Amino acid sequence: MSQFWSELVHNLDPYVPGEQPKVNNLIKLNTNENPYPPADSVLEAIRNATDDKLKLYPDPNADLLKQRIADYFSVQRNQVFVGNGSDEVLAHAFQALLKKDKPLLFPDITYSFYPVYCGLYGIDFQTIPLDEDFAINVNDYGDQGGAIIFPNPNAPTGRLLTLKEIEKLLINNQDKVVVVDEAYIDFGGQSAISLVNQYHNLLVIQTLSKSRSLAGLRVGYAIGHADLIDGLERVKNSFNSYPMDRLAIYGAVASFDNEEAFQQSCRAIINTRETLTDKLQSLGFKVIPSTANFVFASHPDFSAEQIAQKLREKAIIVRYFNKPRINEFLRITIGNNDENAALCTALSEIITS
Ligand code: PMP
Repeated sequence: MSQFWSELVHNLDPYVPGEQPKVNNLIKLNTNENPYPPADSVLEAIRNATDDKLKLYPDPNADLLKQRIADYFSVQRNQVFVGNGSDEVLAHAFQALLKKDKPLLFPDITYSFYPVYCGLYGIDFQTIPLDEDFAINVNDYGDQGGAIIFPNPNAPTGRLLTLKEIEKLLINNQDKVVVVDEAYIDFGGQSAISLVNQYHNLLVIQTLSKSRSLAGLRVGYAIGHADLIDGLERVKNSFNSYPMDRLAIYGAVASFDNEEAFQQSCRAIINTRETLTDKLQSLGFKVIPSTANFVFASHPDFSAEQIAQKLREKAIIVRYFNKPRINEFLRITIGNNDENAALCTALSEIITS
C-alpha cells in the first residue's frame, strides 16, 4: 500500500464488535441478540420472497416497508427512512445531520460506534460525563455543541431517560438535531417517536435486531420530520441505491404484522431480566437498573474479566470492557429460561467457590 493510503486507513480506529464464536455449543450472552427465534409468519414471508423475483433488484425505496412502519407508528411515509441495520442508519445520520461547526455531544459512556463514525466522517465531538449512578443528566447538554446523540436506554449501562426528560432536552436544544438511538427501547421504555411531529429537530432510530429477533436480517429505520429524512435519503442515494434486500423488506413487514409474537418475546425477556437481577443481587452484585435486554453488573470481590473467564470455562460468554469507570462491569445479555438458569448456576458456583 502506498504511504498516502496507508496513513489514511491507519488513522481510522474501527469499531470492534462483540465476539461471534465459530462453535455453537456456547451459551451466547455477549451481543444482546434475542434468545427467541423470529415468528413462523416472518420466516414464511422470507421464504416466500425467495421466489423467482430474487433475480430482480428490490424496490430501491423499499416503499412497502416504509409504509408499513409509517402505519405502525402513525406517521407519514416521508417521515420514515430504512437501512441495512441501525448501524447503517446511524452512519447516514452522522454524515447527513450531525456534522456541524460545533462538536457533537454524547455521553462519556455510550455506544462505542459513535466516536468511530466521528472519526470516519471528520466530526468533532465532546463527551458529557454521566452521573455517579450512570444516569444521563439532560441539564448537562445546554449552550454548547452543534448536535446531540445518545441511546435510550443507554448502552452498555441499560439506564433509561423518561419521555419527560427527553422533552426537556428537546426544548432546551431547539437549534440542534437530537438523535435518540432506541435499539433497546421495547424492553420497558417509552419511545420518543410520539414526539417527532412536535419537535422537528428529533430523529429516532430503531432496529429489528433486538426486540424483533432479526439481527441476521439487518434492518433498521429512522423516524423524524420529513426534512431530516430527506437529508438521510440524499446520503443513502449517494452511497448505495439498494440498501434493503428483498428478503429483508418482506421479513421486516411480516414482523410488524405479528404484534402478538413481538409482545410475547419482549415480555419473556423482561421477566427473565427481573429474575436475573434478583439472583445477581442475592450473589452480592451491584446491578444498574436496566430497561434493556441486558444487565450491567459488578461484583465487589471479583473483577469482571475474572468472572467472564470463569463463565467462558463453563461455556457461557458475556461481555466486559477495558475502559475506565466501567472495567469492573459485566454486560450480560438476557437469554431464554434455560440459558438463564445455567448462567445463574454457573455464577453461584463462581461466587461461592
Ligand atoms: N445502537 C446501539 C445502542 C446498539 O447497541 C446497537 C447494537 N450493537 C446498534 C445501534 C446497532 O444495531 P443493528 O445495526 O443490529 O441494528
